[in-house]
Amino acid sequence: MTPLEFDQRHLWHPYTNVVKPGPTFRVREAEGASFTLDDGTRLIDGMSSWWCMLHGHRNPHITGAIHAQLDRLPHVMFGGLTHDPAIELGQMLLDMTPASLQRIFYCDSGSVAVEVAMKMAVQFQHATGHPERQKFVTIKSGYHGDTWKAMSVCDPDTGMHHLFKGALAVETFVPKPPIRLGQDWIEDEAQNGLGALREALETNPNLAGFVLEPIVQGTGGMYFYHPEYLKQARALCDAHGVLLIFDEIATGFGRTGKLFATEFTNIEPDILCLGKALTGGHISFACTMTNDRVAEGIGNGAPGVFMHGPTFMANPLACAAAKASLELLAQNNWQAQTASIEAQLRDELAPARDLPQVADVRVLGGIAVIEMQHSVSADHAHGLARDTGVYLRPFGRNIYTMPPFICTQDEISKISAALLHLAEAL
Ligand SMILES: *Cc1c(COP(=O)(O)O)cnc(C)c1O
Repeated sequence: MTPLEFDQRHLWHPYTNVVKPGPTFRVREAEGASFTLDDGTRLIDGMSSWWCMLHGHRNPHITGAIHAQLDRLPHVMFGGLTHDPAIELGQMLLDMTPASLQRIFYCDSGSVAVEVAMKMAVQFQHATGHPERQKFVTIKSGYHGDTWKAMSVCDPDTGMHHLFKGALAVETFVPKPPIRLGQDWIEDEAQNGLGALREALETNPNLAGFVLEPIVQGTGGMYFYHPEYLKQARALCDAHGVLLIFDEIATGFGRTGKLFATEFTNIEPDILCLGKALTGGHISFACTMTNDRVAEGIGNGAPGVFMHGPTFMANPLACAAAKASLELLAQNNWQAQTASIEAQLRDELAPARDLPQVADVRVLGGIAVIEMQHSVSADHAHGLARDTGVYLRPFGRNIYTMPPFICTQDEISKISAALLHLAEAL
């Protein structure tokens, strides 16, 4: 059996059919914006390995931090113990996130961060005299992860609610904000989507929280919407005693051209989920941040303790990697990096607008999307990668890139060419 045959026979891959596995490349090593296959082919990672590899693969500042930590304290339980990597990372996170978010819960992955956020909301409501508030409202086309509670607030169509009907909690869905980022805001609530949210809040007295991805919906359709929706949603949530939960697992750490998408507004969420790019893509890590009101509400109620605590909570290797990645963000001037990537992608992808098979082209910070009229197969893109020298993995109707911030102009041009080639070939 070759190694690839072993892989196909025994290893699950994300969202794949084990009986009919798609094509798979065997990656030998990676450096900078690219990885190298077993036959020596180098491919630019146009996906930043699912949006996390900000400063490039095997970044020496991050691997150096992990190595140093590995030789001192690879792991220790967080129950009754703490360590400098967790404390120092915490200080950095407090300095960069919305001021009211003063409490940090470290966890292993984005989905777990969402589980923790939703559990915090329910436990806060319970502890502050609202045990009936156990449900959630969210917007359609969202994506929040693959664990059960996170899945319950993923888009009901693409999130496979049908398949898991009966096993999945039934939450309330309102339409996604219909007014796009950059369009004129319309005050009429029937047209700006807030009417549906208001009605959901007024008719469901059992809501604990409103969960959504601010400004950019990622996996649910790469959709960019108007910040005014969030501003007014904040006021509606306050009026109805519902916590506002932002999932910035995809948008955090500069990806949208702002450090956090929340910065498109002047409001702050009650709970914020971070993940993906937190360690610059070098090791799994995430966190859930909240304000003193929520944290102290839980602490001052019964049972007082927050009922969550993963084995690898605040893993020192992950904290060290995250610290190093956040240092690089500042050192590398992420604003200049994303501004230049945005300008170049906007320019180079403009010709795609003229293709009849293209529905829309949109670019924001380090995100560029060519939305097709029809759905695109990831396997088809896979087949073109060796020709274009760029690894892309489209989903639904979207051909897109979220390139590493350290890409050179030449690498961005290659990514643009690969996106256009894929769009033209369809
Ligand atoms: C990827 C993602 C998640 C899930 O994170 P995992 O680390 O894959 O569990 C949750 N929310 C959003 C917005 C994401 O993009």
